[in-house]
Amino acid sequence: MSPADKDARPSGPTAEDAAAARERLETLRTTTVERLAALGRSFDEVVAAATDTNVDDEHDPEGATIGFERAQVVALREHGERTLREIDAARERLETGTYWRCTVCGGPIAPGRLAARPTTTMCVRCAAAAARG
Ligand SMILES: [Zn+2]
Repeated sequence: MSPADKDARPSGPTAEDAAAARERLETLRTTTVERLAALGRSFDEVVAAATDTNVDDEHDPEGATIGFERAQVVALREHGERTLREIDAARERLETGTYWRCTVCGGPIAPGRLAARPTTTMCVRCAAAAARG
């Protein structure tokens, strides 16, 4: 083995990389679950407010506000639930060792990208291509 080989980073993620990724996903999952619980409470409040005042969504300005708030809470909740599914899928990929690979081109995903976006399934290049459509 040449000195260069000895100093080179081992190919692929180390056990520490996997542990760090697992911890990031756990943290993200906890905050997402907490956010969803809080959204559940505000959804109940919005519904209760709508029931209490018995407003007409279409003609009462207050009703329109409640309808808008309700739609917003629903959107946030859907986003949170989608994030949860992404986190669970990422945890599965982590256990099977495919977490570090782009699902589109099969190339490696930069560790920095996975640190910033722990649930990403694509390398920067494929994600950019997907965003362009
Ligand atoms: Zn890719």
